[in-house]
Amino acid sequence: MPLRLVAMMLRSLPLSGGNPLDVETFLRCEIEEHATGQHIDLVWQLDGSARGEVWVHWTDGCEPGWVAVLPDCPADNGRPIPYDEACTLFTRHPGAHSFELADPAADAIRESVEYRLLKAELDAVFRKSRKSRDTP
Ligand SMILES: [Zn+2]
Ligand SMILES: [Zn+2]
Repeated sequence: MPLRLVAMMLRSLPLSGGNPLDVETFLRCEIEEHATGQHIDLVWQLDGSARGEVWVHWTDGCEPGWVAVLPDCPADNGRPIPYDEACTLFTRHPGAHSFELADPAADAIRESVEYRLLKAELDAVFRKSRKSRDTP
């Protein structure tokens, strides 16, 4: 993200303190794979998530053109705690919610031998406790 835009953002937004160096300048599009050439990334988190976060928008081959405060996407995956996960994107974003997108880092962990061993161990423990509960 060009420093010119960082400066503009810091001047124009109601930021309460915060270090300009904390602004995310390495941009990586956050929304689901798409062919529009229009990208968006979160660059600044406001205090108190009720107001939303600051996002920067850019087009392929161009410098980022604008930043905007967008309200958070209200969706969550609907699963019980601790498996609940809220969407980290902005409201009315295109594509899938963040919790529906594949996370390559998490996938790598799931495919590791250590994870499989641990999971087999836990499954055995759960199976045992379920059995003892079912048969009084
Ligand atoms: Zn994109
Ligand atoms: Zn969402």
